[in-house]
Amino acid sequence: MLFYPQSLLKLIEEFSKFPGIGPKTAQRLAFYVLNMDEKEVEAFSKALLDVKKNIKYCSVCGNLTDTDPCLICKNQERDKSIICVVEEPKDVVAMEKTREFFGIYHVLHGAISPLGGVGPDDIRIKELLQRITPEVKEVILATNPNVEGEATAMYIARLLKPLGIKVTRIAHGIPVGGDLEYADEVTLSKALEGRREL
Ligand SMILES: [Zn+2]
Repeated sequence: MLFYPQSLLKLIEEFSKFPGIGPKTAQRLAFYVLNMDEKEVEAFSKALLDVKKNIKYCSVCGNLTDTDPCLICKNQERDKSIICVVEEPKDVVAMEKTREFFGIYHVLHGAISPLGGVGPDDIRIKELLQRITPEVKEVILATNPNVEGEATAMYIARLLKPLGIKVTRIAHGIPVGGDLEYADEVTLSKALEGRREL
């Protein structure tokens, strides 16, 4: 490694910052870039910069978007009376893949974790409460089925129940301790179907 030219070393170092990329893979990727056409490298670096420049959070639901509000919030066909609450933008993608949910979303950007020092005010719970208008009939809590996700669901349910709206939690099928992101579409759509009222 020490004998690599400085700029190659730098690229290896940058690649090894990615999750799941060890030094060997980082080296392989750096050499791959070295062998790419200059045009391809330009397109790649532009894609990296554009994603930072253009992608922002939807001011309504908190999902990742390049238009504000996002396409889901803007879509007149979506049922605005059902809000599905998820932890991360990637969970919206997982839910959308089921093609069974036609409501709208609210992305919390995290989950309550006393051990991790994440309290209710650190995630977008206040913003969720602000979205509860008479139009909203049901809130589906689709946080992950782990300790943090459950705690978050319970906390939100306690806040919403007194408002007289139906609060449901996605059901079985998702392994406990699992991640929504990794659930297959069938499992996730079953979980959605079997949601229970809290
Ligand atoms: Zn949105």
